Amino acid sequence: MSKQFSRYGILFVISAPSGAGKTTLVAALRQTPDLVYSVSCTTRAPRAGEIDGQDYQFLSDADFRARVKAADFLECAQVHGDFYGTLREPVLTNLKNGVDVLIDIDTQGATAIRNCDDPFIRQALADVFIIPPDLEELRRRLMNRGTETAQQIDSRLATAAREMELWRDYRYTIISRSAEEDLQKFRHIMDAEGYLSRRLIRK
Ligand code: 5GP
Repeated sequence: MSKQFSRYGILFVISAPSGAGKTTLVAALRQTPDLVYSVSCTTRAPRAGEIDGQDYQFLSDADFRARVKAADFLECAQVHGDFYGTLREPVLTNLKNGVDVLIDIDTQGATAIRNCDDPFIRQALADVFIIPPDLEELRRRLMNRGTETAQQIDSRLATAAREMELWRDYRYTIISRSAEEDLQKFRHIMDAEGYLSRRLIRK
């Protein structure tokens, strides 16, 4: 980055209630070369079009449990009945090499990382919460998506209303507008985090 300074990678954590615009934002961020996306492990079945090793590492319950036992996960949580976990080793290797990492995890995972006992991880962390402008907009987005029944939409909205209250726990909150604006706001956060004096290491 410069002859005088270097820095470790930044661990960007992104969470959001479903329908808040996170999937679109993460897809756009994955197109950019300046971040490495951390591919989580999960026990849920792949959805149409999802690729093993690219969207998730799809594991059996037994394999997932074995990895928990081996302490392979930086954090893991049960979300909507399935298990999800972030592998520790690739995240640490990238951060130590000065490469910024993006992880898309639920609010339980973000809390676990915020409170983890490794000071290197805690210092690397920059956590970002995406919220919809309001619940009516969220309802509209979920209905437009057309992947849930009316009952599922009501249940997702109730969960979203609860989850939205967690915004204060995150360093940054992006109120989702358009895909372009959300991406631009996230890029501003990336820039500012990269300028933090405390991240710089004098060579
Ligand atoms: P989906 O199954 O729709 O891809 O993801 C469901 C939820 O699980 C999303 O909120 C997503 O952010 C979260 N998630 C994905 N990977 C992980 C992970 O490794 N750890 C945790 N805690 N949550 C995850």
